[in-house]
Amino acid sequence: MEEGSPGMGVIVPAGAGARSSVEGYDPKKHDPFFDGVSQQLADKGFVTAGVDDLITWARTGSLMWMTFGLACCAVEMMQASMPRYDLERYGFAPRASPRQSDVMIVAGTLCNKMAPALRKVYDQMPDPRYVISMGSCANGGGYYYFSYSVVRGCDRIVPVDVYVPGCPPTAEALVYGVLQLQKKIRRTGTIVR
Ligand code: SF4
Repeated sequence: MEEGSPGMGVIVPAGAGARSSVEGYDPKKHDPFFDGVSQQLADKGFVTAGVDDLITWARTGSLMWMTFGLACCAVEMMQASMPRYDLERYGFAPRASPRQSDVMIVAGTLCNKMAPALRKVYDQMPDPRYVISMGSCANGGGYYYFSYSVVRGCDRIVPVDVYVPGCPPTAEALVYGVLQLQKKIRRTGTIVR
């Protein structure tokens, strides 16, 4: 049977089959960074790059995330690393220890009582470290903005790099937030201390 014949159905690039039904997904759209690398390789047969760029690129592909599930948002965070979305394909793997973690995902409602523990865990993470604030509660207090016991945004306790909106944000939204963080690291990352 020939490719494209009625019996073959829609043809998608290898590895893209699982995502072909996701709204807005276009397998022809590529990251400009990788397009640039492959063009240079095809043109010259070698690639030149700054050490800064190489290390930053490697860093984006090995982001270990510290699980900090605080409330309902944590369920979507777990879902993002399950087989359907499979965050580990981006090298974004969970760690249960702050000593080896690069990213903290604050997933849920941060209470005043929990805030010192959150800060302590953040302080135990090695530099460079990043924070993703997930959901309305972590972003700004959310439903509990007027509560006596809730911190009105985890950015009052730790510096936040990416905010993921929603209550709860979908697992797709968190995956998108991770991709935004990777872009931010590629844009601003440096080995200068
Ligand atoms: S943002 Fe919504 S889903 Fe997330 S922790 Fe708050 S109430 Fe729960």
